[in-house]
Amino acid sequence: MIINIEHSIIEEKSFLFIGCVFYGDPFHSAKEWTIENEIGKLWERYGNLISKNYRALKRNLVNLNIGYEIHIEPEEYIETKNYFVFVGTEIKDYNDVPLEMFIKVLPKIKYLFFTAKAMDLDVLPPEISQEQSALIFPRPPVLCPGCPHRATFYALNKSIPRRHRLVSTDIGCYTLGVAPPLSAGNVTICMGSSLGIGSGVAHSPGLKDPVVAIIGDSTFWHTGLPGLVNAVYNRSKLLLLVVDNSATAMTGFQPNPSSFTSHSQVETLAIEEAARGVGVEFVATIDAFNPKESIKVIKEAVKKEGVSVIVSKGECNIQFVRREGLPENKYYIEADRCVGCYACVNMIACPAIIWSDRTTTEEGKPIPTIDQSLCTRCGLCASVCPYGVIVTKIESETN
Ligand code: SF4
Ligand code: SF4
Repeated sequence: MIINIEHSIIEEKSFLFIGCVFYGDPFHSAKEWTIENEIGKLWERYGNLISKNYRALKRNLVNLNIGYEIHIEPEEYIETKNYFVFVGTEIKDYNDVPLEMFIKVLPKIKYLFFTAKAMDLDVLPPEISQEQSALIFPRPPVLCPGCPHRATFYALNKSIPRRHRLVSTDIGCYTLGVAPPLSAGNVTICMGSSLGIGSGVAHSPGLKDPVVAIIGDSTFWHTGLPGLVNAVYNRSKLLLLVVDNSATAMTGFQPNPSSFTSHSQVETLAIEEAARGVGVEFVATIDAFNPKESIKVIKEAVKKEGVSVIVSKGECNIQFVRREGLPENKYYIEADRCVGCYACVNMIACPAIIWSDRTTTEEGKPIPTIDQSLCTRCGLCASVCPYGVIVTKIESETN
């Protein structure tokens, strides 16, 4: 490999580096700069460590695009031919340097720099062509198709306009509901914080808008109960919306006291009973997939003084489908009747609703369709379409 190396002398400067170090002959197994010998492996190790620790380091890096390879010959070099090689990048100070990386300080003297560009070394992955990058489209994090939380947030949005409420949410799948268009969450900090924040904010002088705390069933048992007790004790005017999907879905379906279980010897605990037990007077249960009824109950709950609790029940669709299989009823958009109002697209953002190649007859607007390979047949979109053009048919009749 022929490499064009440029060199330059720079003025006096002291350097602070982080990176990886090697002692020996880094060209032991091959004479060239290659991934096969120690020098190549050192660069590879450095690259991996930087990617792994990039978040912690980024404020501290001088210029990540410049990587240094420093050779330092100790006294015994003449005899042993072994020397130190340091591969790294410059940093501003010692803060946040991970233990796995070395720090090297070079004194303030003149340095001779040899510069080779990574492309000359043939070590960069092949460039992604424009054509290929056009195929990679942005994918914001979203709730799964058929997720019951989507249905609960739709009902919440229909009950209280977003600009007239404060929603403190918590840590779980439902945190994904903070993204538009559901936008169900103004603040999230850590597990159990929804109740603490909500309870505190509810005491803000002059606050007229309702405060809603959202928490999942698993998080409720884990860290929510103390916050609920505190909110009741402090007489906070707060609606606690427990989005109970009977699962600890985000971290891998570990059992929790109210999750779905097939162990007959285990009795599940009711969140409603726990809420009544600590003194909550208004406690209601809603079916996440019945938005009409949910809207009524949410509207009633936010008028109550003190803490009110609604448990929105809808099993995690992944857990349900794994156990029971897909329901028989498929959902379709009747393209001939769709008016292109986009309520199904803009209000629930189910990933199974995609664009078709058809347009409305009158205005020529694109018509959405349902991707049957993604749809888990929850039926929410059919409740949302104001024109009733999302219909259900038994699978066997459609094949
Ligand atoms: S909500 Fe109904 S009418 Fe509106 S775009 Fe969707 S399918 Fe068509
Ligand atoms: S039924 Fe509608 S809302 Fe439910 S997963 Fe299918 S497309 Fe999405």
